[in-house]
Amino acid sequence: MLTRLDAVPRTKLASVPTPLIAVPSLAAHLDTGARIFVKADDRTGLGLGGNKVRKLEYELAPERLAGVTELVTAGGPHSNHCRVVAAAAAQLGLRCTLVINGEAEDPARGNAHLHRLLGARIVTVPERDDRDPAMEEEARRVGAAGGRALVVPVGASTPRGALGYVHAAAEMHRQLDSRTRVWIFVSTSSGGTLGGLILGCALLDWPVRLVGVSADEPAALTKDKAVGLALDAARLLGHEGLADSVRALSDSVVTTDAFVGEGYGAATPAGDEAARVFGARTGLILDPVYTAKAAAAMIAWLRRGRIPASDRVIFVHTGGHPALFR
Ligand SMILES: *Cc1c(COP(=O)(O)O)cnc(C)c1O
Repeated sequence: MLTRLDAVPRTKLASVPTPLIAVPSLAAHLDTGARIFVKADDRTGLGLGGNKVRKLEYELAPERLAGVTELVTAGGPHSNHCRVVAAAAAQLGLRCTLVINGEAEDPARGNAHLHRLLGARIVTVPERDDRDPAMEEEARRVGAAGGRALVVPVGASTPRGALGYVHAAAEMHRQLDSRTRVWIFVSTSSGGTLGGLILGCALLDWPVRLVGVSADEPAALTKDKAVGLALDAARLLGHEGLADSVRALSDSVVTTDAFVGEGYGAATPAGDEAARVFGARTGLILDPVYTAKAAAAMIAWLRRGRIPASDRVIFVHTGGHPALFR
């Protein structure tokens, strides 16, 4: 089943497979019989790692880079995606322009500092809605100067980018090698990560219970985005019947917005507690914007007894550490 995925060209950027780490002291602390694992995708390597590296392997496939001189992308002032695109550009010997919405901070800290350290040219625009037209304008500027730009959509959450998480699903399937029921908790925002996991599990015929924990938007919208990306990515693999498997698996996918709190990036008591529990019981460090909220959801589900002792639980650590140093 994975041969079709292997046939899709990609540019090697990620250090994979990432480890699947058993965290028995977390399970003991939560008083659950379920075995808990962390898929350490914060360790994908490039530019301090995180989930965007896997997506970029496909977004920046060799045939898409032909003749390209500059990568252009966009995000917020503390975008993990922008950091990894800037690192990829530097590694591939390309220029990079980041369109950032919001005021430039001085001094720049966290990801904003790293964007600059990685040599990206930064263009600021007032609002999120200004980003797409600004990226097009930057691409025209590059063309007019005799170069060629590749515009990477926000979050690299394209059908192509989602294929990176088909790979991650295959790694987890291999690493866990278990016949018991498995739950996967993952932070979700632009949907490429969850969408890729949905497609990967469908492709592997692996009946995982996927729980997507929204970092910002309403639960129904995040699910629609992820399922839409999974279906479009299935088409890229050109496999008859895969769309039906994706739809069937999607019925069991749960998304929740109950852990967003006051909004994107705003700390929550449950997220703060989850980060402390993870730190003290596993030695693993969560970020406040995405992974702490996703971990809070997993902890709440375990405490409420929603996961039987015979099951296994995987928490996907999607990265985001620079947000701790803003
Ligand atoms: C971008 C990001 C996410 C969300 O991934 P999507 O594919 O956009 O849904 C989760 N965690 C971290 C740390 C991220 O940077």
